[in-house]
Amino acid sequence: MNLFDVYSLFDVTPVRALGCKVWDDKGQEYLDLYGGHAVISVGHCHPDYVRALTSQLEKIGFYSNSVRNPLQEELALRLGKASGYEDYSLFLDNSGAESNENAAKLASFHTGKDRIVAFRKSFHGRTSGAVALTDNPAIVSPFNSHHKVTFCSLNDAAGVEAELSKGDVAAVIIEGIQGCGGINVPDAAFMKALSELCRKYGSCLILDEVQSGYGRTGKFFAHQWYSIRPDIITMGKGIANGFPCGGILISPEFQARKGMLGTTFGGNYLAMAAALSVLDIIEKEGLIDNALKVGEYIKGSIPSSPRIKEVRGKGLMLGIEFNEDVAPIRKALLEEKHIFTGVAGKNMVRLLAPLCLGMQEADRFLEAFNQIINE
Ligand code: PLP
Repeated sequence: MNLFDVYSLFDVTPVRALGCKVWDDKGQEYLDLYGGHAVISVGHCHPDYVRALTSQLEKIGFYSNSVRNPLQEELALRLGKASGYEDYSLFLDNSGAESNENAAKLASFHTGKDRIVAFRKSFHGRTSGAVALTDNPAIVSPFNSHHKVTFCSLNDAAGVEAELSKGDVAAVIIEGIQGCGGINVPDAAFMKALSELCRKYGSCLILDEVQSGYGRTGKFFAHQWYSIRPDIITMGKGIANGFPCGGILISPEFQARKGMLGTTFGGNYLAMAAALSVLDIIEKEGLIDNALKVGEYIKGSIPSSPRIKEVRGKGLMLGIEFNEDVAPIRKALLEEKHIFTGVAGKNMVRLLAPLCLGMQEADRFLEAFNQIINE
């Protein structure tokens, strides 16, 4: 049997990793500034993380959500404290897309309304519900056409109000910082207006923090830069450093009802051991402050060049927008300098490094990057 061929692959086969480094099957070392697409938060194979997972596996790996799981309760407690949302509730699932689907579902249960407002250039996942919230026609199938979703422009509060005032909008969903759409940072005034408009018209505000959350931007969640408190916050990626896990934080205004949400694997023991270990390491090693420090250093050190249009983002969620197709630059970074980076669209190199990236590693990237763009 062959694999269903949906991914464009680089010719690299990673077999081992540690911190921000990855080694391929030929022993070549790479610097990882992509973190498997913002997933590796505390670094690859952190010894505490490995220990936490292996020792959990020796006790119990899985049971179902029909019994009490103390690790879920511990995570809720710890996550509430770490994020500043102690009065919210936690529902655990398995991925970012699932978190967004659960958030949209919950908002429609809560409001009795059925339309969602999302934003142009948004990305919320690939399942049919999440992809319907995503502004990328290339990945939307005809099956999604039944979803009632309206796309507004980022930073256009009047456009959002025109939709909310119709009275049928269950929720507005927005990324803390748009990732796949090109590291677009919303204006603080717009985010505040969005929060007030949702309250005024009885719609829920859903913050998709799947990519921008878990410390990546120098705050636990990116929306905390705007001093707003959304109704639902969605999480995935870095929450368990590569062990599949997702979740949503839910405001105390929502009423839980038995059977309202559910999943087989969500909140399983191994995912919980991984997620608890991630919080331990983030706290012990001050990784949120580190993400801000190293990220801002990189941002401030990208040289001005006629080839570069703009450097955007916050902390270790950075986009370097070029006036040209970046495919050859990314290829040279990987093949000549052995550095993994990401992209957004055709013209942006995207950096989503593990939060433990060190200054020396940042310098290694900057030197390589300078050489490549000056070639
Ligand atoms: N939301 C955002 C902002 C994302 O960047 C992604 C993935 O890239 C998702 C949701 C979907 O997450 P997953 O691939 O875990 O379903």
